[in-house]
Order: sequence, then C-alpha cells, then structure tokens
Amino acid sequence: MTPRFVADCMLGRLAKWLRAFGFDVAYDPFAGDRELAQQARDWQAVLLTRDTRLRAQGVRVFFIRDDHIEDQLRQVAAELPLDLAQARPLTRCTVCNGVLLPAAREEVGDRVPPFVYLTQERYARCPDCGRVYWEGTHVSAMRARLAELTGQASGVSDGGR
Ligand SMILES: [Zn+2]
Repeated sequence: MTPRFVADCMLGRLAKWLRAFGFDVAYDPFAGDRELAQQARDWQAVLLTRDTRLRAQGVRVFFIRDDHIEDQLRQVAAELPLDLAQARPLTRCTVCNGVLLPAAREEVGDRVPPFVYLTQERYARCPDCGRVYWEGTHVSAMRARLAELTGQASGVSDGGR
C-alpha cells in the first residue's frame, strides 16, 4: 500500500515534492499539533515533523533533521524508508493534493501559455483546484531529481517524448 503523510508547517516544500512524486500528503500550515495528530490517525499516515517535541499517540512520528529539501528527501527515502520507485510523477496536485485527471489539449487551451499549448500534447488537470499540469521543464527536472535520489540515472521513463 502506498504510504500517506501528514506534514507539519515547517515542511511545505517537502510536502510539495512528495506530492509532485505522486504521494498523498496532507499539508495545512495552520494546523496545530493536535490537528496534525488527528489527521495522521484518521489517515493512518506518517506524521512528518521538524519538531523534536511533537508526540502523537498511535501515530508514527518521523522527525526530519535537515532544512534542505535534498537532504529531507534523502532522509525520507533512506530511513522511513520510502520506496521512490513507487513515485508516480504528475498524478497529484502539488498545491492542494488533488488527484490529477488526464485532460485534452482543447480543454486546457485557455489555461496554458501559447508556447506550451503548441508544444505539449499531454495534460493533467486538478479536479479540486483547477490547476493544469503538463510535461514541461519542471517535470523533467523532477524526474531528474527522482532518478538522482533513487540512483537510477535512466530508470524513470520520460513518458511523452
Ligand atoms: Zn489542486
């Protein structure tokens, strides 16, 4: 089963990256300790935190040591551990955690820059917040980072090209 996460207010960037990799991450920067714990219990999720004092009964609390995103991702991959081979880039909205749906070019035409419209064929749309995603440079960069983290230089297929 794919793991789920709840991230505390210090870990917005990590939450975004994990979502970009397709993992299910709740992130509410205004949630207090009790709400974080409750959410993690309800979801049976791992609670990711930068706070050494955070305790939550019946919840696995995973302390993130470092401030830097690369180190955070490495720690999660190595020590949680999280199998980054399970990553499914471009399946989840990095902003609201919605599960993306494939979208036809005609559907998203007015939501993407003209150059993107002309050069990209595959799109995904977040049904919750309406954001549109495509295989662009940021996705390539993400796949490269993922490959680096998993130590599989050519292990992640680049889908559309
Ligand atoms: Zn969204």
